[in-house]
Amino acid sequence: MPEFKILFAIFAFIFGAVFASFAGVVAFRMPKGLSIVKPDSYCPSCKRPIKKKDNVPILSWLALGGKCRFCKSKIGVFSLLMEIFGGLGFMCAYLEYGDTLKELPIFIALLLLTFLFLVMAGIDHETHDIYDITLIIFAVLALFIGLYRVFVFGSNIWDHVGGAALGFGFFGAIKLIAKLVLKKDALGSGDIYLVGIGGFIVGAFPLLIAIMLSTLLGSIIEILKIRTSKTEREAEIAFGPYLLLGIGFMAIYGEALMKLYWEVML
Ligand SMILES: [Zn+2]
Repeated sequence: MPEFKILFAIFAFIFGAVFASFAGVVAFRMPKGLSIVKPDSYCPSCKRPIKKKDNVPILSWLALGGKCRFCKSKIGVFSLLMEIFGGLGFMCAYLEYGDTLKELPIFIALLLLTFLFLVMAGIDHETHDIYDITLIIFAVLALFIGLYRVFVFGSNIWDHVGGAALGFGFFGAIKLIAKLVLKKDALGSGDIYLVGIGGFIVGAFPLLIAIMLSTLLGSIIEILKIRTSKTEREAEIAFGPYLLLGIGFMAIYGEALMKLYWEVML
């Protein structure tokens, strides 16, 4: 890899972490109806403004051990993870789609998608809810990325349509069966839209892998969390962040994966 590319990749990571930090602010304030631009970041517990030097993504969290400098109240590990995944999202999008002018529209769309996913994951984490407005923006981005891949990169439209059908159909069926058999809501309808729309971006096969990865990761982490927590937890878990991670990963690497798959198969 040429040196300038490594340098740009590092820049991309830093930008991603900074935008992730802002996404965290949006996700915290939007459900409460607060302004997302004013005031500057403050501690949710003691309301004191966060100093510039304590607002450096990732590093500040590590330096302060995930605690507010003043009141020592805990800042969840989730915000640290958001900043790390934001950095990785921007960096991987650059490494995968940052080379040619033809790839530029996909690269920009993937940066927007990463930011949107971080906001959605943050809101889901805070409220166990996925907002309609974020799903609408997601649908617009998905339509753009999917159609660009069809008309410019020459991928098959039916693979994208099939991905959406699989997502809506598969998750819709699980929800229906759970409703009939268990008489309760196993999945939020937001999750169904998430995999349905995500399926249009990545196509059927990568969507299946994304769902499997998210389910596996989600189960392991949630079981560990239940095992280690001393208090009784609510039975309902926010599955959205895991799905977003899986779909986001496939939005960036799905194409390369399919190329590899066909090379091995033929
Ligand atoms: Zn504080």
